[in-house]
Amino acid sequence: MENKNILDLAIVGGGPAGLSAGMYATRGGLQNVVMYEKSVLGGQITKSSEIENYPGVTEVVSGMELMEKWPEQCSRFGLKVENKAVIRVSKIKDLFNLLLEDGSVAKAKSVIICTGANPKKSGVNGEDKFYGRGVSFCATCDGFFYKNKEVAVLGGGDTALEEAIFLTNLCSKVYVIHRRDTFRASPATVLRAKNNPKIEFVLNSTIKEIYGDNMGVNGVIVTDKNTNIDTDLQVPGVFIFIGMHVNNEVLKQENGNFICDVNEAGEVIVDINMKTSLSGLFAAGDIRLESPKQVVCAAADGALAAIRAISYVEDLGDIV
Ligand code: FAD
Ligand code: NAP
Repeated sequence: MENKNILDLAIVGGGPAGLSAGMYATRGGLQNVVMYEKSVLGGQITKSSEIENYPGVTEVVSGMELMEKWPEQCSRFGLKVENKAVIRVSKIKDLFNLLLEDGSVAKAKSVIICTGANPKKSGVNGEDKFYGRGVSFCATCDGFFYKNKEVAVLGGGDTALEEAIFLTNLCSKVYVIHRRDTFRASPATVLRAKNNPKIEFVLNSTIKEIYGDNMGVNGVIVTDKNTNIDTDLQVPGVFIFIGMHVNNEVLKQENGNFICDVNEAGEVIVDINMKTSLSGLFAAGDIRLESPKQVVCAAADGALAAIRAISYVEDLGDIV
């Protein structure tokens, strides 16, 4: 007889990817599914004051409003949620062990990792104060709010230059502020950015301060590192792209190796079915490689991972 304490599926992270996975897994017939969320259900979008690009939601709503019904929908089909952080996921034979923050261990036949990724902060004065009111970490999300306006982008990597090029489709001018005069971004992307007439580079420069008022950002003070001269760029929007922190710690084993393949940036490598290199382990949402980092994409990933996890668990059969 099968051990009732063994979960069919454990989901780590309760953002759009995890909640979508939870709904598809339980509605699809898995009996014993638990989601572990260390913080607020809904994920990082709950920190956003507005989202207007989730299909079918025609009014601009806050991230919290968008996400508040998702857990309720999941619970209708039997998803259980535990408000606990997962410390580590490991696998012994066919069984996954999830070490939880209280020291207990949950056992599961399959696991979907949906712990997301967070943009790195610059620590610049005004970054936190104006976050969501002129300071953004997402051009796809917020670029539209600056249509026909001038904006600044901080960073010199592929993300900064690609997002700067994207922003030129909407904005009248994009200042790219970078602390060096050479770029981490690929030469082809640098060339595209340099050839874009709407991009103006502000090189060897750092942002001293992002300033504004109750309404939001009014500009940035930029310091030229060579001359020490400050320049005031009067822009209502500042986009910060200085790298991502991928929340992959749960996949790190005691010996320091990852349980499955990750790329140089730490993103989990998955195939088109959201399968990782380890059988029974799936990854969905912002944590997986080449994620477009959008709610709709994370939700789609979660659904697909759950559908494949159902097949995996069915094929695996009983574990005593
Ligand atoms: P997340 O939403 O990051 O969820 C991961 C969850 O895992 C979190 O709840 C976290 O607490 C939990 N977790 C992490 N580690 C552990 C652990 N060890 N144990 C247990 N739980 C854990 N997208 C759009 O489509 N449109 C927008 O307009 C938009 N605007 C945005 C605005 C802001 C300010 C931000 C920050 C993001 C925005 N995004 C937007 C992007 C969108 O929020 C993400 O793409 C999406 O939330 C990714 O979903 P996810 O489930 O992969 O990860
Ligand atoms: P990244 O490559 O780490 O670049 C970060 C950039 O931000 C660097 O230019 C860095 O400057 C700058 N920076 C870091 N901290 C800063 C700070 N505190 N203040 C000011 N500037 C700061 O990050 P990314 O651009 O997000 O890319 C991450 C990975 O994804 C990379 O491997 C990248 O190639 C990859 N990626 C690939 C593609 C693509 O292939 N199409 C697209 C996007 C991302 P320095 O250069 O001086 O260190």
